[in-house]
Amino acid sequence: MKAEILAVGTELLLGDIVNTNAQYISKQLAQMGIDVYYQTVVGDNAQRLEKTIFNAFDRAELIITSGGLGPTEDDLTKETGAKYFGKKLVLDQKAMDMLESFFSRINRKMTENNAKQAYVPEGALVMYNKNGTAPGIIMEENGKTLINLPGPPKELIPMFEEYVKPYLAKKQENIFHSRVLRVAKIGESEAEDMVKDIISAQTNPTIATYVKKFEVIFRITAKAKNENEANKIIEPMVQEIYKRFGNNIYAEGETTIQKVTCKKLMDKNLTVAVAESCTGGMLASAFTDIAGISKIFMEGDVTYSNDAKIRRLGVKEETLQKHGAVSSETAAEMAQGIAEAAGTDIGISTTGIAGPDGGTAEKPVGTVFIGLYFKGKVKTKEIHLVGNREKIRQRTVDTTFDWLRREIDKNE
Ligand code: ATP
Repeated sequence: MKAEILAVGTELLLGDIVNTNAQYISKQLAQMGIDVYYQTVVGDNAQRLEKTIFNAFDRAELIITSGGLGPTEDDLTKETGAKYFGKKLVLDQKAMDMLESFFSRINRKMTENNAKQAYVPEGALVMYNKNGTAPGIIMEENGKTLINLPGPPKELIPMFEEYVKPYLAKKQENIFHSRVLRVAKIGESEAEDMVKDIISAQTNPTIATYVKKFEVIFRITAKAKNENEANKIIEPMVQEIYKRFGNNIYAEGETTIQKVTCKKLMDKNLTVAVAESCTGGMLASAFTDIAGISKIFMEGDVTYSNDAKIRRLGVKEETLQKHGAVSSETAAEMAQGIAEAAGTDIGISTTGIAGPDGGTAEKPVGTVFIGLYFKGKVKTKEIHLVGNREKIRQRTVDTTFDWLRREIDKNE
């Protein structure tokens, strides 16, 4: 089934509001295996709205609209749909009763304009609105279906869930279901190269690759009668990808490296303190973004100057002079220093050159050392990152979480 989404509202064209309804509906339809070929936005204008609906039905069997079901003169979506199907508007008593009780609940007088909302195209399926005044409408004839939903997301979403989903599910023979694998440390082209043969042989399931910040994401999607069947089709491909990427796959589904690593720390009750230079508090902030982290996150120090590194962390002056602040040796002493000062199982440090200035031939911009003290042992890691100052600092944080995750697994 080919579908189109039509968002109605001049506010959208003026850029006053963002078209989140189209995004929501598109996502839902994709999950149901319904192809969306066009998303359109049209203002509250009778002729343009009519033209848009008629054009869309030349291309698609299903149109879902959002907005323009309100009580005012310029709310015309329902009327225009009725015109397409050649239906007149008739009173729906249940919608009228609901409107009356809505207004008495909020202690406001119902106007004649409001009553207009209880009129629906003859023969239409009415979707009663528990969260607002405008009922939604489903009209279907000769293989064409028009679904009108109200504009406010807090009305549209529950109505979609309650009425539209089951209505469309009955029409769909198959659903689409996906599993998402998140890969750290391996770049996009390398990751794609590692699944080249799978990509070129794909039919059902299909595999898609996305890049997000520091990670590569594989979405494996199957078309099947139900979720159970889809999972069975997906499983062998998922197993094959695990075989190739091993523990570079840090999680499945919607999550982040920071959430995954913090959960491991909390599950194992491993306490942490951090001493940051180039990340200037971003690492501590990433830890404290996680609810419940106070159980294991004890302290974060931003030790930016050499003096602070000496005074707060006990980094030796000699180390700084001989190797510099951006060095493996300094990172190691920082990590150990903060763990000892805070009395934690783990101490983490970052020191690097985030740019744009400060790079040298030996240590160019993007050179970062991460120190990790883990129950008495200290390790360091040298990384070379590209991008602007913000990216280098953010990637340092992500890389730190990924390394920490691997070290926790090793220490199990
Ligand atoms: P009402 O019954 O409240 O009059 P309506 O169906 O007439 O609803 P509109 O008047 O078009 O809807 O929009 C009402 C509000 O809903 C907008 O002010 C906006 O806050 C929100 N809204 C409308 N369209 C969208 C959209 N496409 N995405 C996100 N929000 C939207």
